[in-house]
Amino acid sequence: MNFLKLFLLLLLITGGLFAANKNDQRTDYSDDKCGYDPELSMQMLKVLGSGWGYNYDSLLADLGRWSNSPFVRIDSAGSTVEGRILWMLTIEDTSIISSPRKRVSIHARTHPNEVQAFWVTDQIINILLSDSQFAQALRQQCVFNIIPMYNPDGVELGYGRENANGVDIESGWNKEPLQVEVQSLKNLFTSFMTSESPIKVALNMHSSVSCTRYFVYHHENGTSDLFTQYEKQFIGGVRSYWPEGFEPWDYFVSWGTSTPTQYPESWFWLNYQEQVMALTYEDMNCSSAGDYDKTASALLNGVADYLEISKIPLPIEPAEPIITPNEFAVMEVYPNPVKQHFNSKIKLTLADNMHGQLFVFDVLGRKVAEIKKGLFLKGANILSISDLNLPGGIYFTSFITESGVVSKKMISLR
Ligand SMILES: [Zn+2]
Repeated sequence: MNFLKLFLLLLLITGGLFAANKNDQRTDYSDDKCGYDPELSMQMLKVLGSGWGYNYDSLLADLGRWSNSPFVRIDSAGSTVEGRILWMLTIEDTSIISSPRKRVSIHARTHPNEVQAFWVTDQIINILLSDSQFAQALRQQCVFNIIPMYNPDGVELGYGRENANGVDIESGWNKEPLQVEVQSLKNLFTSFMTSESPIKVALNMHSSVSCTRYFVYHHENGTSDLFTQYEKQFIGGVRSYWPEGFEPWDYFVSWGTSTPTQYPESWFWLNYQEQVMALTYEDMNCSSAGDYDKTASALLNGVADYLEISKIPLPIEPAEPIITPNEFAVMEVYPNPVKQHFNSKIKLTLADNMHGQLFVFDVLGRKVAEIKKGLFLKGANILSISDLNLPGGIYFTSFITESGVVSKKMISLR
């Protein structure tokens, strides 16, 4: 382990020399906040292994683990050029009626070689799923939407920065036709912004070869005086939890002359101005990176303060019945996607006792499984579907009765 650290350090030193010698060749990345160096990225890939130590399979394994929490829902947020799913965790405590919730969006690994951005995100998820009072309070008052790997094709292909089309999807948010990953994220953000719980904080997680922790601050020339007050409040708030860990707000100032239009933060600014605190966070892309738990804790505490969240959980009340008088049945599938070890269940809540049939159909409408036929009881009926063992794909589970049909889409993972 010590040898590995030493080797990485040597790589970084030689990588730094490479970068210094090749500054004139880096014009394509002249506005790069992360400080990309292709040589260094390739060297790190060789040392750390597939996906810089965390690839798509690692993510699938973690999705299985995270989905065991009753506070996690897993959905597809879209797909990639090569057809991989952009997996998203939604973390909230739905046993508490709290609406509108304060929505926090986090996406990481736009740039595949910035694996530290994932490790911070991983610790954010760990904190949010913990038993602490702080976590309970956050889950009750907020909803977190987290995409741990926004560029899985790039991760699998060993690209430092680009998607499968060779395009850097950190920019190009203003360029038609959009890359499919950009289109997916734009659609997702748009749907959240028109929901009853719009996004309040959007964190775009990166890591920088400058080997420091900082936020990319947007100057008032590209935003507004009011927004820069909010930025200073937010960044200062995070930093107050670990002053020596983070650089001050003016460490990296961008948008000094006008508003660029190509970035995700630009898209938020142009459409929603001060409503959304949309910022890039840069962790340390170097061998001395670490303290991811401390970083994650400071970030979440800063978010909570900025959103004026009470850090004391509310008393737990029983959930309201989810069925309304004009519905005969409500169906939920969780966790969804479904996989053998995910222990997925169907929860069918009925207004009355009724006879029915519960089947699974594929996208072509072919019946592929029968879960139960016969009498279903009033209230919650919970049925395990962990042993269905379906091939990967999209399915519909349908409850068929004389009163009507209720269906739910579900995704099967292999
Ligand atoms: Zn980056």
